[in-house]
Amino acid sequence: MRIILLGPPGSGKGTQAQLLVQRYGIVQLSTGEMLRAAVAAGTPVGLKAKEIMASGGLVPDEVVVGIISDRIDQPDARNGFILDGFPRTVPQAEALDELLRHKHLKLDAVIELRVNESALLNRVETRVAQMRERGEEVRVDDTPEVLTKRLASYRTQTEPLIHYYSERRKLSTIDGMMAIDEVTRAVHRQLLALGAVEPKTHARSAAKSAPAKKAKATKTATKKAAKKPAKAAKKAAKPAKTAKKAAKKAVKGAKKAAKKTAKKTVKKAAKKTVKKGSKKGPKKVTKKRAKR
Ligand code: ADP
Repeated sequence: MRIILLGPPGSGKGTQAQLLVQRYGIVQLSTGEMLRAAVAAGTPVGLKAKEIMASGGLVPDEVVVGIISDRIDQPDARNGFILDGFPRTVPQAEALDELLRHKHLKLDAVIELRVNESALLNRVETRVAQMRERGEEVRVDDTPEVLTKRLASYRTQTEPLIHYYSERRKLSTIDGMMAIDEVTRAVHRQLLALGAVEPKTHARSAAKSAPAKKAKATKTATKKAAKKPAKAAKKAAKPAKTAKKAAKKAVKGAKKAAKKTAKKTVKKAAKKTVKKGSKKGPKKVTKKRAKR
């Protein structure tokens, strides 16, 4: 399976990508991560990208396209991949189309995580705080000023991709404002609908994400409990109908029984029995059964 996650910084692409990696056993190809690694390692690409990234701009298309093309060729990507942060411009999308065609690979879906812009700054601030708590190094571009610039880059250069993929019937938009596990479920449903994943993947992951399931089960139980009084009322109204049905059934049953008896009985005697039986017998049975 090969998918692209599309969305502004803070939309949850990275979080969802990691969850999808666990679920489907495919790799996450994040150009941001790769570039950060290149910067840390001081490679020629890293040296090129360092300042651009720190200021919230976009690294030249040919640089990221080259990185992605090489990465897709690695053996661990053979099973499938999630592109996170790539493509980010229309020329990058065109280059991706070309290189996938060249490698005889098909793109299954482009998932856009749509979020309210007003929530993004808050999300990034939370991420920074959590990273600090864990003692992790905070990204140099996770400041309010640079985030504003990154958002501007997204709007002008990346957002046109929504149109690009929608025109090619590849785009699925998901509400990225929902809780993390709800977004994951929505993505999964979408991938199922597109035929990109097998239905059984769901069961495997459902077992893994037991806590989330438990929470859902509790919710369902609460809902059911709330519905109970209404159900009980309906049940209480039912006996009249049930009795009528039972009576009808009994009449049918009795008629059948009468026929059987008639057949079995010796001809002459049977004639009499049948006359009596069909008049009285079945009716009695009917009443008795109907009472039950
Ligand atoms: P976010 O999605 O939160 O903005 P990323 O980790 O994806 O963060 O990217 C961090 C930075 O890396 C970007 O602001 C940009 O400078 C650079 N970058 C990542 N991917 C690309 C890309 N496909 N094209 C150009 N620059 C990129």
